[in-house]
Amino acid sequence: MESCTKQTKKIVIAIDGFSSCGKSTFAKQIAARLGYIFIDTGAMYRAVTLYALDHDAIRSGIVDEERIIALLPEIDITFRFNPQRGASDIYVNGVLVEGRIRTIEVSNFVSAVSSIAQVRSKLVAMQQKMGERRGVVMDGRDIGTVVFPDAELKIYMTADPRVRAERRYAELQAKGDEVSFDEVLDNVISRDKADMTRTISPLRQATDAIVLDNSRMSIAEQMEWFDGEFERIQKQLATGK
Ligand code: C5P
Repeated sequence: MESCTKQTKKIVIAIDGFSSCGKSTFAKQIAARLGYIFIDTGAMYRAVTLYALDHDAIRSGIVDEERIIALLPEIDITFRFNPQRGASDIYVNGVLVEGRIRTIEVSNFVSAVSSIAQVRSKLVAMQQKMGERRGVVMDGRDIGTVVFPDAELKIYMTADPRVRAERRYAELQAKGDEVSFDEVLDNVISRDKADMTRTISPLRQATDAIVLDNSRMSIAEQMEWFDGEFERIQKQLATGK
């Protein structure tokens, strides 16, 4: 693969889909394989949510949209590659927040925060800038529809909600987060619903996206599937067919 990446055209790979489908793990693997930059856009929405929680813009379960919009100009999001993780860590105003953005508290409010138009326009502009030279794998909800509608390869990921909740639950437990399985399942289902029904940039499959249901697929099988699709796209780009 290493040698063939040198001859292939650098493209944008957009991975959209439901929460906890393993989009980031998949995107990270693809990026490592191709020498592409991996951008986890969910981490950016989570970072804004964490900042809102830390600055009293979410109190007693109420999301104060106006306050979040007012906070936006002071939120500076950056990524720095962490060789130990093989991916970039996210920083807000120079502070590493990677370890704090995946708690259930952030998960419970992130869909509400990400439905604010001003939040989306700020983050979408950043994402477009990061991918302007191609050679990126970006995962999120609106990458193939809004951020890069011209992405050469669009993947729409899905999996059974219980399978997804089990994966997320195991991840949280490994980190020592005290959370019940039902709470995780509820969060997965309610985020799917919120992400699909919001007015701005709802989660939906781009007409030219290919579906990947990984409910019963191993990581190796998923990668094999990807190799076939990547080859197909590269052939298409080379021959124009
Ligand atoms: O991918 P992850 O589950 O970490 O994303 C967290 C949340 O951020 C999603 O549930 C969704 O509300 C929001 N999101 C979004 N658009 C993206 C990526 C994430 O609205 N491109």
